[in-house]
Amino acid sequence: MSELLKGKPVADAILARTREGAAAFYKKKGRSPKAAIIRVGARPDDLAYERGIKNRAAQTDVEIDVEELAEDVSREELLRTIKRRNEDAATDGILLFLPLPDHLDEQEAVNAISPQKDLDGVSDASKLGVYTDSGIGNPPCTAQAVMEILAYYKVPLSGKKAVVIGRSQVVGKPLAMLLLKQNATVTICHSKTHDLSQETRQADILISAAGRIGMVTGTDVRDGQTVIDVGINFDSAGKMKGDVLYEEVADKVDCLTPVPGGVGSVTTAVLLSHLLH
Ligand code: NAD
Repeated sequence: MSELLKGKPVADAILARTREGAAAFYKKKGRSPKAAIIRVGARPDDLAYERGIKNRAAQTDVEIDVEELAEDVSREELLRTIKRRNEDAATDGILLFLPLPDHLDEQEAVNAISPQKDLDGVSDASKLGVYTDSGIGNPPCTAQAVMEILAYYKVPLSGKKAVVIGRSQVVGKPLAMLLLKQNATVTICHSKTHDLSQETRQADILISAAGRIGMVTGTDVRDGQTVIDVGINFDSAGKMKGDVLYEEVADKVDCLTPVPGGVGSVTTAVLLSHLLH
């Protein structure tokens, strides 16, 4: 049976680091670091995410300030709200809940967030920061959460072969860049990749971010591998599942992240840690 790389101890370590950072911030500035959540409407999944962030923030002495905008808020009003927060010296980070309603231009809105305050790492400037290594903005939280898990469990990366399934702007591509920065030899696989199994079996570290149940089966892996399952999917019974067929893969590989309780449980901690960047 493989070692389970659980997210909780990783998240706890990041939160402890953030708490220390928040205390130092308080000493210097006489106030706690503050994140503004900009939420358009009141979708149940947004509200659940907001509660999760507030719970974690309470553990780290970070302040959360929610701006709730009407579901039919105008483009101008949304951009004005973002601009006001960009300019507010007492707001240290901004998180815009996505997706936005259809009448709003998501790309325009995320790019209106100042890179220094882009907690989620979703603006083009943050992406540039990841690709150029310049420190502008923040890496997208999920990609960084994977790196935090690998670092916490001391998975060697330098000179190792890392295979990433998925090439999205928020997970696959930035993750490949972060792995490259740690001197891994990186292959990015996607929906047009031929013989995916042949690629995945060569990996020392295999990361699946395809968003498909059963993407990684027992025949796609071998012993000696570390497998990170980024996928969050729901089966017909409404049960949360990753991309990896756990029953088949757990017996074969050395280490594996669970779903739930793996990557997803680390992302909110990463988000709060960005407040101190
Ligand atoms: P996406 O749909 O934007 O990208 C999926 C990628 O997978 C695409 O690049 C596509 O080429 C690739 N892909 C799809 N089918 C494939 C196939 N058969 N073979 C090879 N590649 C294939 O998704 P995303 O936003 O990158 O998210 C990916 C998964 O990660 C989803 O399940 C999502 O829910 C999950 N996710 C988890 C977290 C977290 O905190 N754990 C955060 C964000 C996303």
